[in-house]
Amino acid sequence: MFEHLKNKISEALHVFKGDSKITEINIASSLKKIGNALIDADVNYKIVRNFIHKIQEKSIGKKVLTSLNPKQLITKIVYDELVLLMGKKNVEMDLSKNPSIILICGLQGSGKTSFSSKLAFFLTKKNKFPLLVSVDIHRPAAVDQLKLIAKKVNIPVFSLEKSKNVIEIIDQSILYAFKNKRNIIIIDTAGRLAIDQIMMEEIQRINQHSKPNEILFVVDSMTGQDAINTAQSFSKKLNLDGIVITKLDGDNRGGVAITISSIVKKPIKFISNGEKIEDLEVFHPDRIANRILGMGDIVSLVEKVQEQFDEKRTRKIYQKISKNSFDFNDLLYQIQKIKKIGNIKNIISMIPGIDKYFSFDGDHKNSFKKIESIIYSMTPYERIHPKVFSDVKRKKRISKGSGITLSHIDLFMKQFYDMSKIVKKIHAHSGKETIKNLLY
Ligand code: GDP
Repeated sequence: MFEHLKNKISEALHVFKGDSKITEINIASSLKKIGNALIDADVNYKIVRNFIHKIQEKSIGKKVLTSLNPKQLITKIVYDELVLLMGKKNVEMDLSKNPSIILICGLQGSGKTSFSSKLAFFLTKKNKFPLLVSVDIHRPAAVDQLKLIAKKVNIPVFSLEKSKNVIEIIDQSILYAFKNKRNIIIIDTAGRLAIDQIMMEEIQRINQHSKPNEILFVVDSMTGQDAINTAQSFSKKLNLDGIVITKLDGDNRGGVAITISSIVKKPIKFISNGEKIEDLEVFHPDRIANRILGMGDIVSLVEKVQEQFDEKRTRKIYQKISKNSFDFNDLLYQIQKIKKIGNIKNIISMIPGIDKYFSFDGDHKNSFKKIESIIYSMTPYERIHPKVFSDVKRKKRISKGSGITLSHIDLFMKQFYDMSKIVKKIHAHSGKETIKNLLY
């Protein structure tokens, strides 16, 4: 997600390395690179021009504050502009009615059905009781697909297999929700390969009849400019409340996420970055800007980890870290939980700096497996006494047992100590915005 843009912006900011002043030369060179990075990310040329102009205006003539060097100052200005471009701040869904109705629309293949179930799963974690409803009367397979995903996470799906009347299905689903105490109804509508008259009329009828609290439009990030055009046409016909961007895991450019909100004038509410049910994030422009600028996103990470970790055990781990007694059993427990969080690569990008040295070979899943086999080769005593590994004989034995080279065992031991430091950092930063901590 945003990998390419992140690397290019990092190169552009590198121009200031060691400079104590912003000059016309260093700023022009950096801005040119930032502009190219955005164009490469598939950001519309006019938006890029405007973006660069604003940064130029803000930076030239600005005295470098004593606490900030030029690189930090430009990073801060780029950060502010990126946040503005992506919609300033997160706009929450309106779930005030009982039941609240969320209408999901978009083209076929955009990820509507997957998103509907991810959203239902997300809401159950917020102590809501969602009901999924499929009104795709044209494709019976769509109902089966929804049922299949929802069954895995125990969320009910309402459908009337024999009915070809979307209004009847919706009315019945509302009755079902009242009877079964479901307080949110998520309606997954039928999609088409392109916007057509029949689909628009059907969705407008559903809208008028169900009076949803939220209409969310789902777009596939990889379709680039097309995604923005479709959202714009839809938005002219239907008063959208928000946009959902899917498949960001496969798109290292990210132009849609950066610009769609400013073009369509609707907030992005969620992003989906993987095929697993957990691979859904609430969209926070500031946090994404942090990630693009390589600052990580500790706040999202903490939220993700908290969803998985048992609170008592987490507190115990934090206490152990502060007493410097965090051991290999604790690490094993964390790895097993982190593996359940979802897209590991995405999680890693939330931790400032870790992606540079975390993995042995760029394959994070495999790295976790290697770490597990190292720990499984340790004796129970060694697991709770990490310091005994200053003895190289022990490391050689572990290397034989796990089949991992001695140099990797050494790297792992270094990572183990670094990881304890990072967990400590996560704890210290919890609830605060990373960029503020790093820049001010
Ligand atoms: P629909 O026709 O709009 O309902 O689209 P689906 O929900 O059936 O999704 C189409 C395909 O995209 C499926 O294979 C999904 O598994 C896949 N998909 C959906 N969201 C994501 C995502 O965020 N990342 C990835 N990699 N695949 C996704």
